[in-house]
Amino acid sequence: MSESTVKFGPVTFITGTKGGRYPYCHSLYIEEAGVIIDPASSLEQLQAIARSGQAQSVWLSHWHEDHIMYLNLFESLPIWMHEADVAPLTDLETFIDWYFYPGVEYEGLRETWRPMLLDLFNYKPRQISRFLKDGEVIDLGSVTVEVLHCPGHSPGSLSFYFREPGVLFLGDTDLTPFGPWYGDLYSDIDEIYRTVDRLRNIPARIWLTSHEQGVFESDPGPLWDEYLQVIQTREDKLLDFLTEPRTMAEIAGRWIVYGKPKQPVEMFAIIEEISMAKHLERLLKKEIVISDGERYRLK
Ligand SMILES: [Zn+2]
Repeated sequence: MSESTVKFGPVTFITGTKGGRYPYCHSLYIEEAGVIIDPASSLEQLQAIARSGQAQSVWLSHWHEDHIMYLNLFESLPIWMHEADVAPLTDLETFIDWYFYPGVEYEGLRETWRPMLLDLFNYKPRQISRFLKDGEVIDLGSVTVEVLHCPGHSPGSLSFYFREPGVLFLGDTDLTPFGPWYGDLYSDIDEIYRTVDRLRNIPARIWLTSHEQGVFESDPGPLWDEYLQVIQTREDKLLDFLTEPRTMAEIAGRWIVYGKPKQPVEMFAIIEEISMAKHLERLLKKEIVISDGERYRLK
């Protein structure tokens, strides 16, 4: 897949390596204001921006590693993001903690994760200069941008609406066939529903996302529902499996989210488990599922 840029008025969309698939994402650049959003797309394009000396600040849609890979090119620039996602950016061990249950020892996994963050994702702790808040409107010259706090995928996930060109950046509400991702400790499925509902009602003309297709020049239409339907389909598969009592290990071993074991398997097994735990939380609350502390089953 070729790496390229597309301009929507003052907003430049930078296609990520591998079509913006993990571990990459797409970036945005608002040249006149020197704002780079999510510097983890194309090393070549981002190096050119860094060399130009035009960049003034880096904005992050959220804390995940596939949105910060080339943040190291912009070490002297201030970072703006939502306050709720700051902690992992400031400390490597906290970053790792946010993927795992508290109080459970995943020492082997920490050892897998730490060098990946350092070597592949160029992780360095950073201080955050400014917290972006929901509803803030920021003047970037010929374009004004509205900050939208869109929790669910992560607590501090942000979307940006560029008013004049009608460009809505959806971040990791990415409308991919894979569906919503809620595999870290602080993801929240109910918030994802609310976030999608909010975003689909914004009167945009262009929709940009962080991964895969990335650019939608006409209304994504049925994709909004199809995206949310993935959550329901996963939940239905889980409910089918719970006609017999099942342990958490058995549930995670079904690979309902990923479909099959994904490498590195020890890491994705945890993400699968946390995603299933998010479903179980909802189902226990609604009293559709009960648990004896060890096994889960339909009520
Ligand atoms: Zn993410």
